[in-house]
Amino acid sequence: MAERTLEVTSRLGLHARAAANLVRVASSFQSKLTLQRPDSGLVADAKSILSILTLAATHGTALKLVATGDDENEALEAIVRLFSRAFDENEKVEPQRLLTVRQELRARGPGVSDGIVMGRVLRLQKGARDVYRAEISDGDLERERRRFRAAVRLSRRQLEAIKQRAEKELGRGHAYIFDAHLLFLEDAKLTRDVEDFIVNERSNAEWATKVVGDRLLSIYAQMNDEYLRERGSDIEDVIQRLLANLTGEGLKYPNLSEDAVIVAPDLLPSTVAELDLNHVKAIATDSGGWTSHMAIIARGLGVTAVVGLRDFYQRTRTGDRIIVDAREGEVILHPAAETIEHYEFMNPQREVERATTLESGPVTTRDSVKIALRANVELPAEFQAVRKFGACGVGLFRSEFLLTRPGLMNSEQEQYEAYTALAEAAGQDGAIVRLFDVGGEIGNEASERERNPALGLRAVRFGLRNKDVMRTQVRAVLRAAAAGRLSLVVPMVADVADVKAAKRVIAEESDTLKSRGETIPHVPIGAMIEVPSAVLTAEKIAAELDFLELGTNDLVQYTLAVDRGNDKVSDWFRTLHPAVLYGINRTLQAARDASIPIIVCGEMASTPAYAVLLIGMGANDLSMIPAMIPRVRSVLSQIKAADARDVASRCLKLATADEVEELVREEFKSRWPDLFPPNTLPKALENLQ
Ligand code: PEP
Ligand code: MG
Repeated sequence: MAERTLEVTSRLGLHARAAANLVRVASSFQSKLTLQRPDSGLVADAKSILSILTLAATHGTALKLVATGDDENEALEAIVRLFSRAFDENEKVEPQRLLTVRQELRARGPGVSDGIVMGRVLRLQKGARDVYRAEISDGDLERERRRFRAAVRLSRRQLEAIKQRAEKELGRGHAYIFDAHLLFLEDAKLTRDVEDFIVNERSNAEWATKVVGDRLLSIYAQMNDEYLRERGSDIEDVIQRLLANLTGEGLKYPNLSEDAVIVAPDLLPSTVAELDLNHVKAIATDSGGWTSHMAIIARGLGVTAVVGLRDFYQRTRTGDRIIVDAREGEVILHPAAETIEHYEFMNPQREVERATTLESGPVTTRDSVKIALRANVELPAEFQAVRKFGACGVGLFRSEFLLTRPGLMNSEQEQYEAYTALAEAAGQDGAIVRLFDVGGEIGNEASERERNPALGLRAVRFGLRNKDVMRTQVRAVLRAAAAGRLSLVVPMVADVADVKAAKRVIAEESDTLKSRGETIPHVPIGAMIEVPSAVLTAEKIAAELDFLELGTNDLVQYTLAVDRGNDKVSDWFRTLHPAVLYGINRTLQAARDASIPIIVCGEMASTPAYAVLLIGMGANDLSMIPAMIPRVRSVLSQIKAADARDVASRCLKLATADEVEELVREEFKSRWPDLFPPNTLPKALENLQ
């Protein structure tokens, strides 16, 4: 038997990464190896990481290493050396690894929010913080409690600021969640228990916060009520925030002298809404797609984002240099000097400056076809963007962004105020308010989760099954229409029956308001055509309505049976699939035959090359992300609609998405060589994997 007493010298103690290195070295010997804490009597197997972690050995802890076996002396020496090298945590001792880590690494995924950003990685993953127990002497207990109270105060200030910002930029519906966070933070069950734990267990504040937090979480985890159980994740958020403020890590973006780029496996829309835009300039996530609501919010806030990067997160470390290029749909980790030079030369700021003298109103093609360019709007923060980017009013207001969940519906008055502000911002071209498109990825209570939410109680179906919700919204819109031109559009109708049922509710609410003496102006009613059954009966639907809207995001999803938010099937999400083009063409024709307007409002309209094809199929009214309007305007003003018609009619004769994309690439390159650099054509946009 050989033994030696050692001291943990690494700054962070024997935490997970250091313990892993210890296990690696210990496991290369036959001898039995144990570590003992003389102060507590705890004993751990040096070949088991979980066992080592139970020692909670912080910086300065003394440990007795005991080796028994044939190679006990060699094992002892190797581990003593590892302790003296502070567990090899310092990357400088491994020059080879350093070299490989620093190699430029590129990953591709859809750029879902425009821009090019150079910065430093800030990794974000829920619950990834290591917390250790430290024993506090009696004289220091009061100081430890004060430290905890200071963290509570700081967390409160942060949450209040986040809440204010969420209210201003995302609407009240999204801000309620931070009220809940504030309540948790102030709850005596949390604060008193943590302080008691500090005193009774002579524990550091971090450990006390973690233990009390875990206890609370386990209580919530056992609840039967699904909604209450979900509140557990809010508690976890608050605990993480407290820990971050106690340790000084995380939320202050340490060591980040440059702009931060959030790298995460996935991000919730509310997390995006919470980002501190003074620090965070871009997002890179492993999952997500162009039409996921996280992406939509990132666009709304103007945060550059590339998603669907698969296993990129694992390859990064906080602080790594990174370039996020949403134009190319690429992220570059550890960019080489030439790459940095190339990006500095491109100077993305130039385009922003160029965009200050913006035109407004419809755009006219070279052969005098007029095309309206409207704005898709999700958040009150974007209302200003409508004018700024020269939109012809709002072609689609995704009203459900006012809410967070149907159980917490906004009052009629709150909605009325939002729609009034919208009507005022939209000006004489007016705004189209979509009835809540809830269900699917947002909306449903967890307890009512459906097996196939996208095919479930979503959009108009949700409204017809929750008539009070629909009626409240309809009244708010009808009343707000007195302030400016508003229209109503019914989402995801399957057929005329849905249209008639929705119209009946609207007519009844209009009568109710009139019977109360209110003057209700004419509010045109339209429907979103985004499922195949609606495409196939478009003529019948058109006969019932004042206008149609084509939601190409869902139309692609439902026509091709490809989940629009699932990056595993993103290769099958082919916007230029002939089946999608037939559907669009057929619907445009139905509206023309019925002499009613039709607006294309899916993301297809925001993409210049696709917008040209839409014009080729006869569209003359497009609604898109406000920031894309100048680019689409510039492209459409330089083409002839007759040329677009020629290309589109040839596309409609093809059989596969590959054939259509190939034709588009060839035709666009030869007809408009300066308008469409290769990366703006289908290959770069869609064949990303
Ligand atoms: C669409 O489906 O194309 C659309 C515009 O609506 P959303 O993206 O909100 O489903
Ligand atoms: Mg849709």
